[in-house]
Amino acid sequence: MKQYNIITYGCQMNENDSEKISKMLTDLGYCSTGNINNADILIMNTCSVRENADDRFFGNLGYMKNIKKKNDMIIAVCGCMMQQEHIVTQIKQKYPYVDIIFGTHNLHQFPSLLEKHLKTKKPVYEIQNSTDEIFEGIDSERRYSYKAYVKIMQGCNNFCSYCVVPYTRGREKSRKRQDILNEITSLANSGVKEVMLLGQNVNSYGIADNIGTSFPSLLREVNEIKGIERIRFMTSHPKDLSDDLIDAMSECSNVCNHLHLPIQSGSSRILALMNRKYDREKYLSLVDKIKAKIPDISLTTDIIVGFPTESEEDFADTLDIIDTVRFDGAYTFIYSPRKGTKSYDMKLDIPADVIKERFSRLLDIQKKISEENKFKYLNTAVEVLCEGRSKTEWEILTGRTRDNQLVNFTGSANAGDIIEVYISNTKSFYLQGKQI
Ligand code: SF4
Repeated sequence: MKQYNIITYGCQMNENDSEKISKMLTDLGYCSTGNINNADILIMNTCSVRENADDRFFGNLGYMKNIKKKNDMIIAVCGCMMQQEHIVTQIKQKYPYVDIIFGTHNLHQFPSLLEKHLKTKKPVYEIQNSTDEIFEGIDSERRYSYKAYVKIMQGCNNFCSYCVVPYTRGREKSRKRQDILNEITSLANSGVKEVMLLGQNVNSYGIADNIGTSFPSLLREVNEIKGIERIRFMTSHPKDLSDDLIDAMSECSNVCNHLHLPIQSGSSRILALMNRKYDREKYLSLVDKIKAKIPDISLTTDIIVGFPTESEEDFADTLDIIDTVRFDGAYTFIYSPRKGTKSYDMKLDIPADVIKERFSRLLDIQKKISEENKFKYLNTAVEVLCEGRSKTEWEILTGRTRDNQLVNFTGSANAGDIIEVYISNTKSFYLQGKQI
């Protein structure tokens, strides 16, 4: 049997695309291998959100040349980076051993592109700039039997000044409500208990296409699907988070009490430069509203440090908002200029050592808050969806609470079981306990 290996960079959207590519390859008779040296075909699914993801990809692609020399594997590259002309030109010039390049809008064509390459033995390139279509009926080879990603929309219309996604994933397009519900029902029938609804901004689901269903309505319908016990979603743009969504979250028993609400900066001046369309006051009043309706909500966020012109005062505003909201966790990033975006031309005016120092201050403060927030779980029982054995310690099981806390515990549960765990200890990034 021929074998394939997929390297996925970036977000859950990319993971979801990789699951679809896996299914296409399985249908073509390939099986998965964790060892690239044995692969007949390697797919590298790229991310262009930050410069270090680009660098990692090119570093790995260079290394693949030696492996290809030994095993003559086919190398296919896809994902967001391939929607950028200068990247594709660079690959064609410096990495001519890449056999197939395809863009984010050409995913469904992958089997025919592979067939074309196998027949002609020549490089095949297929990159469409944009599409108005959403291709239904592409199945996924799901990584887990008990939880699944379900893409509800693609693309983004927001054009945050630092973000390349609207250029690489195109304009926002929502899937039809019934197609989503059918997919989730079929997942539930196959034993899936948790779904994560995916979109660049799920809060604007259905608006641009005027499809007649809002995200809160969709959430309410998913909540009725028998067998689905946990519903998560990602990502929520604060500017589009409606009262109706907060109501839906508080009323739907299967919607998890966790919300990832990227703030990016605590400074209204920087938020305006980022084109985020909310200011710190609006964000804080949103948080107050959410906490009032859902008192046990867990909030996490994204923060960018070192956006051009960020002053010490702006950064102090970010630290202040972190201290006020007391997020359970934050994905923190150093600003990374992306070609083609509005902020790309802004002067990088903050010295690297200043950015580094701010970044480490931010990490320290967030770590302290995350640790302190965990104390409330001590000596309590929490519901955990077991995800199997810990990668580092075989005798330890791992899973997540409804509010997305990572729990490491001892017990006899199997992956996919929803069980109770008594929490006896807390660590910086997880809770520790014993299955009850
Ligand atoms: S909402 Fe902003 S940050 Fe998120 S994908 Fe769209 S443009 Fe990028």
